[in-house]
Amino acid sequence: MSKTPLKSILATSVMLLITACSTETRTSAAQNSISNTEQAKNVIIFIGDGMGVSTVTAARIFDGQSQGLKGEEHTLAFEDFENLALIKTYNTNAQVPDSAGTATAILSGYKTNIGAINVRPHDSIKKMVLNSCVLKHEPPTLTQHAKKAGLSVGIISTARITHATPAAMYGRAVDRGWEADSDVDERALKARCKGLAAQLLESPADIILGGGREKFTDEQLSQWRSKTGHIYVENSEGLRAAPKEQTILGLFTPSHMSFEADRPKNTEPSLAEMTGFAIDALAQRQTGYVLMVEAGRVDHAHHGTNAYRALTDMQALNEAVKVAKEKSGEDTLILVTADHSHVFTMAGYPVRGNPILGLVRRPDPEAGGAAKDYAKADDGNPYTTLGYHNGPNIRKDDSPALTDNMVQAKDYRQQTAVNLAYETHAGEDVPLYATGPGAQNVRGVMEQDEIYNVMANALGWK
Ligand SMILES: [Zn+2]
Repeated sequence: MSKTPLKSILATSVMLLITACSTETRTSAAQNSISNTEQAKNVIIFIGDGMGVSTVTAARIFDGQSQGLKGEEHTLAFEDFENLALIKTYNTNAQVPDSAGTATAILSGYKTNIGAINVRPHDSIKKMVLNSCVLKHEPPTLTQHAKKAGLSVGIISTARITHATPAAMYGRAVDRGWEADSDVDERALKARCKGLAAQLLESPADIILGGGREKFTDEQLSQWRSKTGHIYVENSEGLRAAPKEQTILGLFTPSHMSFEADRPKNTEPSLAEMTGFAIDALAQRQTGYVLMVEAGRVDHAHHGTNAYRALTDMQALNEAVKVAKEKSGEDTLILVTADHSHVFTMAGYPVRGNPILGLVRRPDPEAGGAAKDYAKADDGNPYTTLGYHNGPNIRKDDSPALTDNMVQAKDYRQQTAVNLAYETHAGEDVPLYATGPGAQNVRGVMEQDEIYNVMANALGWK
């Protein structure tokens, strides 16, 4: 047998590597094969901020167990949608993305830099200043596009309405931090760039509900309210009384709305209530509509390694999807996805039906059911099923031994492996669930910006 010289193998390998690098292309099952069937009158897109697959699985079990079930066989409201895809979430300059770049991909159809909202990667502050903040060649925002197509628009978030995800529905910013005018870079402000709050008030959206009053000045709000047909509300009661045919802005809290676990029910509407209100109001207009609903605080709970609040906010999202399924007709494309994942994991061989927030007890194959004792780590301590790769709660030698009461409490922060002040996003793919006209284009592994094409195609846009 003749041996190929090593030098020649290396040369071939290098050549193959060069070929592989130079031919990196974007391919996906849905790419180039979007099929055109019946048209959707309405599109509702739910974005669970930070809702990776592990979050969906844990939420499914948590929701099932809160109804007295074992949990594993339970299904969330969107898990019976007939179409499903995995979504690649990277930003143009980041392997692990943030919500600004990912929301731009989902809602405007192109990928951009981490932290950027509806501007291209090359749109620097310098360029914005040079162009007096007018970017003539950028595609319209989803709100502008929908209004131009004669549709009504709703924007809902439990985060500040000027936060990255909802902002990608109506605004542009080189830096997602430009929420109020006072947050905008001085050079950009001089060049007449506006904060996202001001951009929202200038946008033609019909129903806008969320948190973040503190990002608007009293003058901005009173000017907006003085326009004919504009109704501003600040609490649940105001929302319930609001005439649905008007343009409605509801800002229910100074900053983000409360986590579902802490929500004062008489003053702050639930995500489900806001969703129901918006669908009724938009459907009444008979124009067809685009509605974006963000469960914005799943992400915030994860950043604090507080699984309890992440999962209760997931339950709030689940209730909102149920409302959308009930209220919208067969002419509505409903999408449920996440902008990115979190370093949240579910592990350790717990027995079936083990409390999802609890300490791990393994199955006892001899006696059946759960083992009498908790499973122990190498340091002799019990551990939880749920944990985070990084974040603020690393276990130290003098940390107290965990008890089930401790770890199932609302304020418990799960253990982490890498010590960081805030837990981070994760870079693996996230799910996209779809039902209704156009849902057939959700399949395989897709680039995140293709979600926009799915919506545009369903609505018959070019
Ligand atoms: Zn985040």
